[in-house]
Amino acid sequence: MEVSKKNWDVIVIGTGPSGALIARELSRSGKNVLILEKGKLDYSIHIPKMLRKKEMMFVGKGRTLVRGIRTGGSSVLYYGAAFEPPHELFSKYGIQLVNEVEELKKELPIGPLRNEFIGPAARKLMECAIDLGYNWVKLDKFVYQDLPMTTSFPFAVQWNAVEFVEDAVESGATLLNGAGVNQVILNGNKAIGVKYRVDGQPEQEAYAPKIVLSAGGLGSAQILQNSGIIQAGEGFFCDPLILVHGVMKGIEGGTEIPMGTGMVESKEGFVLTDITLPKLVYQLFSIQALRSHRVFDYHKTISIMVKIKDELGGSIKNNGKIHKNFTEIDKQRMQKGYAIAKEILNHAGAKRVFRTAWTSAHPGGSVRIGELVDSNLQTAYKNLYVCDCSVIPTAWGLPPTLTLLALAKRLAKSLLNGE
Ligand SMILES: Cc1cc2nc3c(=O)[nH]c(=O)nc-3n(C[C@H](O)[C@H](O)[C@H](O)COP(=O)(O)OP(=O)(O)OC[C@H]3O[C@@H](n4cnc5c(N)ncnc54)[C@H](O)[C@@H]3O)c2cc1C
Repeated sequence: MEVSKKNWDVIVIGTGPSGALIARELSRSGKNVLILEKGKLDYSIHIPKMLRKKEMMFVGKGRTLVRGIRTGGSSVLYYGAAFEPPHELFSKYGIQLVNEVEELKKELPIGPLRNEFIGPAARKLMECAIDLGYNWVKLDKFVYQDLPMTTSFPFAVQWNAVEFVEDAVESGATLLNGAGVNQVILNGNKAIGVKYRVDGQPEQEAYAPKIVLSAGGLGSAQILQNSGIIQAGEGFFCDPLILVHGVMKGIEGGTEIPMGTGMVESKEGFVLTDITLPKLVYQLFSIQALRSHRVFDYHKTISIMVKIKDELGGSIKNNGKIHKNFTEIDKQRMQKGYAIAKEILNHAGAKRVFRTAWTSAHPGGSVRIGELVDSNLQTAYKNLYVCDCSVIPTAWGLPPTLTLLALAKRLAKSLLNGE
């Protein structure tokens, strides 16, 4: 098919939760949708390949950042925690997401895990945290609890955005994999198309009256820079996290659904949850933390994740360079969360507790609402919209997927209403 000659109604760039949902809603309503996705369908966790594809990179000394360049975006790698958007924050920008969240909750498997799916480590942590006076509760998850549960890391029972991509294609959307978008084509102040390259072939063009960038917190900022919006990527957050591991008898480490329970300290700016990692990831973090001897402890490890809200800062460059210096406030937050994690693990009787280096998995805030996009998520260029983690307007600190889906639902409605 000649992609460049076809009359598309909308081009969607990226198939993470936001792009996939927009493509699905628009194609279901009869729009001619072209989806350009840089990655391909891939469920593997192969660290050298992830480094090569820039799915894993360094944002500072020894501090990694992970995202998905694949169909379904980062949701293929995510841990399925579903956090309600901070509605008050979005109200300040004239954005109401309550109805969209309600609609999503009716459609997707969102809710707390049934008791039988809370594993022994998570149960122990919850019991000990409550005993110490912390508000440790069950968290909402994107998990199909009626599917047979596996005893390995449970990616297979989590909802992810590939489902929406498949729905979009079934409804008539065209998905082009391996298609990396470099730049938006402009006519005066209006976006009219995009330039993209498939697997290193010569650059091609596709045209549509509406363009939606959903290339993620890094990707959308880079495409905008290439398109003349040079402020994109000046300042971002990444919600850094550490893992605090201890060993304990009677724990079947590696067999639990992660992030089923936890505590949210919004004022303090951190979240603590139980966590189970895929074995290889646990082993790599142990080696990075100079605990090579702990790689064999996987099945007796009990762990807490400490994730903080980092301040906006650093920069994302269109030459691929991502840099961020974390502030003293960020470091103090992490230290406070770590102290609580250690206290809970010690109370649980865990031994040989250690923490990993900082990593992060939510790059965003790089194309902020109120600065580079308006409350309809439109940029300074007419007909060019951005909808993904990059538009979050402030420092964040929460798993963002439910918020991104709600923003995408809202944008899809407004595009269909011709607003
Ligand atoms: C290990 C891990 C665990 C996580 N756990 C949770 C969790 O429990 N709960 C939660 O809510 N969130 C979690 N997240 C975060 C969540 O997955 C992301 O915040 C969310 O997927 C971001 O959605 P997005 O649409 O902004 O971008 P992404 O999902 O990153 O999608 C961007 C898409 O754009 C494509 N793309 C990029 N550049 C280009 C280009 N130039 N041209 C074409 N396509 C391009 C990418 O391939 C990708 O498909 C986790 C993330 C990771 C990595």
